[in-house]
Amino acid sequence: MASTAGLVVDIVDLPQQVGAIKNVHLETSAPADLGAEMIGAQEDSPLIVDAELTSLDNGVLVRGSADVHLRGQCVRCLRDIEEDTTVSFDELYFTPEAAQAQADEGDEEADELFTVGDTTLDLEPALRDALVLALPFQPLCRQDCAGLCAQCGQRLDDLPADHHHEQLDPRWSALAALLPEQEEDPEQGERH
Ligand SMILES: [Zn+2]
Ligand SMILES: [Zn+2]
Repeated sequence: MASTAGLVVDIVDLPQQVGAIKNVHLETSAPADLGAEMIGAQEDSPLIVDAELTSLDNGVLVRGSADVHLRGQCVRCLRDIEEDTTVSFDELYFTPEAAQAQADEGDEEADELFTVGDTTLDLEPALRDALVLALPFQPLCRQDCAGLCAQCGQRLDDLPADHHHEQLDPRWSALAALLPEQEEDPEQGERH
């Protein structure tokens, strides 16, 4: 079952004195929709998170990293992409009081601040933000992926280098049908 529950850590045992530290190590599975549109953590794949939580007077500083199994699609050739990555995050979670104080001061983004729960802290928003920033907006199966043939839609990387289609002028096609089969001549394919 995909759930964010696996990324919620208990902070009952994190002392509130400034500078107090709690280290967490989580081995869970990735929730749905963790990542960007074209590539993200594969749902239910293993997700390993190590984080250090530090008490501050206005909240908890969360610094850590996550090992994520990514799944996505190449924007050029639509081939599946699967790879492992490690993403770091470094976020301040405000106490509800501190977040409210920011809102009172006129901070229009105060309602988007991460906040600490009464006894728990959800690492998911920090991880989500870090992943979205780290992932390519337009993922590629390889940097120089040639994409798809505009004529037949096959992956050019899977086709011979001289792959091309005869694009005869329609006016000539009737004539071409009368001609005997010819050996494919690469130069001929480029001439029109
Ligand atoms: Zn590709
Ligand atoms: Zn083609």
